[in-house]
Amino acid sequence: MTTAYQTDDDRWAAIERRDRAADGAFFCGVRTTGVYCRPSCAGRPLRRNVAFYETREAARAAGLRACLRCRPDEPIETLAYGFGQTPLGLALAATSQTGLALLILGDDRAAMAEGLAARFPRARLVEDDDGAAPALAALTAAIQSGAGADLALDERGTELQRAVWKALRDIPAGSTASYAQVARAIGRPEAVRAVAQACGANPLAVLTPCHRVVRSDGALSGYRWGVERKKALLERERAA
Ligand SMILES: [Zn+2]
Repeated sequence: MTTAYQTDDDRWAAIERRDRAADGAFFCGVRTTGVYCRPSCAGRPLRRNVAFYETREAARAAGLRACLRCRPDEPIETLAYGFGQTPLGLALAATSQTGLALLILGDDRAAMAEGLAARFPRARLVEDDDGAAPALAALTAAIQSGAGADLALDERGTELQRAVWKALRDIPAGSTASYAQVARAIGRPEAVRAVAQACGANPLAVLTPCHRVVRSDGALSGYRWGVERKKALLERERAA
């Protein structure tokens, strides 16, 4: 619970800006539709139709049902995220209670924050630069030396994706592998296309070195965070 949403004006302002940090602090009931929502719900109620509730139980007691869009009854997870500069430009790290859940490179803070929100549509997102600092330091070290990071990870993906990401971390710095080699390494030699998709969905830039996967003919292939960054990473690692 937070004390930042004490008055109805504060609460309405949070709804107007779809404040993901307000989720869980209170619930928003909409008389006309008969539902209650998280403050960040994409729905756009009119102020005069809205009432505020401290708890979902209070909203239900008022005869409202849970919104199907924002699912206010699902447990709310908090992710702390922050930005930092690395030798490859701007980075965003997001950490759950379990570990590092997202580490991305980019050029634009707003676009990166949108990427975070899209990847974790139901999480409460709290900006916390201090909390993100260890992951960003590990990222910078990995860029500079190719070293792996000794951090708790919270990768969200299918079984196959997680097997691929683990196999990528077994590719030594300074070397590369093809998609077919990674497919064989996880015991799914036929799944080359799924391996390529898992590389493209890698949530942890550089720490899970999807940049070390190249085409069978040695061509760089794509990179989620820009092929120039991939080229720079591989050149650094070969030179080390
Ligand atoms: Zn809703």
